Amino acid sequence: MIDFHCHLDLYPDPHAIARECVARGLYILSVTTTPSAWAGTAALAHEAPRIRTALGLHPQIAHERKGELPLLERLLPDVRYVGEIGLDGGPEYKRHWQDQVFVFTRILELCAGVGGRVLTIHSRRAAVSVLDALEAHPGAGTPILHWFSGTQRELARAVDLNCWFSVGPAMLASEKGRALAAKMPRDRLLTETDGPFAQLEGSMALPWDAERAITLLADMWTEPETAVRDRLATNLRRLGTA
Ligand code: MN
Repeated sequence: MIDFHCHLDLYPDPHAIARECVARGLYILSVTTTPSAWAGTAALAHEAPRIRTALGLHPQIAHERKGELPLLERLLPDVRYVGEIGLDGGPEYKRHWQDQVFVFTRILELCAGVGGRVLTIHSRRAAVSVLDALEAHPGAGTPILHWFSGTQRELARAVDLNCWFSVGPAMLASEKGRALAAKMPRDRLLTETDGPFAQLEGSMALPWDAERAITLLADMWTEPETAVRDRLATNLRRLGTA
């Protein structure tokens, strides 16, 4: 099972969650929201080769943490995964839009400068601007739009731009989320939870709740769950070699 976007470091007991992920054999992309969180979060994956740690600077705190860009630049040559990065066009974050665009654009430039990275990207209420930035930085790497919530038209453009997608049970709980997921290429899709931010029935999502996304995808694709698991495993391998 795969949770390709969760915030291990933000759970109340990150070590316990990481141990449980190892015990269950989960493949995890453990994302960070600040460059200064990278070292501590990467330590959670010590001796856990299936847990990969991504170097990020979350758009919702870009204005507070833009001073950490030089640290991100120093760490970048040694990491394979970048995120959580992106843009957030929600009304509560719009006033820091300039900082968000500056930070996101700079990170894409830096990624292009080191030959590209696997990117996990936030695009809430900002799909057009995120896609414009990706189009302008084709060398930045392989973009994975996490919990995509744009329009069908924006999704079609993302597909044309060779984006990948990660979908989780919280997203697939809504009719709109399922309609978007149904149009995502099955060979460019991974599961995620966005825990502990994402909530499932009022509790924080746990990495192994990605299981629920598999059930929902099997239903959507009218495929057995084993076939869905195989597809996702194949996708993860292909991403690793992309
Ligand atoms: Mn997230």
